[in-house]
Amino acid sequence: MNIILFGGPGAGKGTQALKIAQEYKIPHISTGDMLRGAAQETSPLAQKIKDTMQRGELVSDELLREIVAERLNKSDCTHGVILDGYPRTLGQAKDLEEILNKLGKKIDTVLYIAVPEEELVRRLSLRGRADDTLDTIKNRLKVYMSTTRPVLDYYQEKGLLQTVEGVGDIEAIFKKVKETLAGKKLRS
Ligand code: ADP
Repeated sequence: MNIILFGGPGAGKGTQALKIAQEYKIPHISTGDMLRGAAQETSPLAQKIKDTMQRGELVSDELLREIVAERLNKSDCTHGVILDGYPRTLGQAKDLEEILNKLGKKIDTVLYIAVPEEELVRRLSLRGRADDTLDTIKNRLKVYMSTTRPVLDYYQEKGLLQTVEGVGDIEAIFKKVKETLAGKKLRS
């Protein structure tokens, strides 16, 4: 199953993605993690990625397309993947379709972890990652609302979207995630 995990910054995508990856034995592909790794290197590109993330802005669709295409081409992706943090723009959604088409694959489901904005701000302020300062948090939410939210409507129209409420106990949320994915499997 090829699953996209969707949600605002701080919605708990990473946490749920790890659990899904373990349960279904599919690789967890987090573009945030991959970019944080790429930003560690010493090169002008690495510095650019780091600055972009620090500002709470999005790294270019072109670079993401290269990174994701290369990753999805690896042999461990044969039985499915869980994509966490990608796509984040409509351009990326179209890129992903092209990448998957070329590989003879498709998206099975887009799982939306719904969390109210006030709760997202609260969680991000508690987390304390390098890009979790108040200004960056505000900017990431702004970018999410203006650029990433439309991707949700796009998948809704395609009939791929399934929503799980992401507030409460991690295990309880995961239970709902599993039930949703199980239902998807039975239908498809
Ligand atoms: P969160 O979901 O908490 O915002 P992530 O680890 O997914 O955290 O992303 C951190 C940062 O990495 C983003 O704010 C952005 O700068 C960059 N990033 C991650 N994924 C993408 C993407 N698909 N397109 C562009 N930038 C991305």
